Amino acid sequence: MKIDVLTLFPDMFAPLDHSIVGRARTIGQLEVNYINFRDYSTNKHQKVDDYPYGGGAGMLLTPQPIFDAYDAIEKTRPRVIITTPTGRPFTQRVAEEWAKEDHLIFLCGHYEGFDQRIHDELATDEVSIGDFVLTGGELAAMVMIDATVRLLPDVLGAQASHEDDSFSTGLLEYPHYTRPADFRGLKVPDVLLSGNHAKIETWRREQSLLRTHRRRPDLLEQAGLTETDKKFLESLRD
Ligand code: SAM
Repeated sequence: MKIDVLTLFPDMFAPLDHSIVGRARTIGQLEVNYINFRDYSTNKHQKVDDYPYGGGAGMLLTPQPIFDAYDAIEKTRPRVIITTPTGRPFTQRVAEEWAKEDHLIFLCGHYEGFDQRIHDELATDEVSIGDFVLTGGELAAMVMIDATVRLLPDVLGAQASHEDDSFSTGLLEYPHYTRPADFRGLKVPDVLLSGNHAKIETWRREQSLLRTHRRRPDLLEQAGLTETDKKFLESLRD
């Protein structure tokens, strides 16, 4: 996968040199380029922002530097993602969709955001990471890149898997325990020590349902529940 990031702050992306995204780059699954669109400004002071027509507080990113930076990228059919609080919510499903693509381009906003023509002409996706407002799109782009890249083949390594992760199954993940079995009198649930795989699977599924029911009941509607799941949830409601 190739990712190009249009940003005024390329140095903010240092975290992506580490951990899983760093590994994806090392094993050759990922190429990332940071493009400072200020370098493309034809203004003699390299300005990239201007006052909004119609008045109001704040400055907007102007089209010229961003269109020129975009035109300079070698591309065939990229996904062009505008980071914006007005976009559709970023979810695991979106990350799964993007992980199948060859080329993603992220546009990181600043100030009051982008001139609308940038949205209208360049974006294939307008995406938000949550119902809050960040100062710029850099943190949002990093969150989305991390969540997407860890789904690429071989990136997590043989020991880890994303298939049982929260949201991948449609539910929140069940609780995990590791050694020791008794830590300061706090015991690991007996079923996990039983060696009975069928019972362990049932316990995990029920714990996932219980957690989702308590913390994110909105997820249950789309979770593809079995009859057994539904009966278990009914018993909780009773
Ligand atoms: N005036 C905009 C609004 O109210 O919708 C907010 C602009 S915000 C201060 C500046 C930039 O931060 C945005 O252009 C966008 O790139 C990024 N940003 C802020 N919050 C975000 C969020 N929740 N998700 C994705 N990007 C966000």
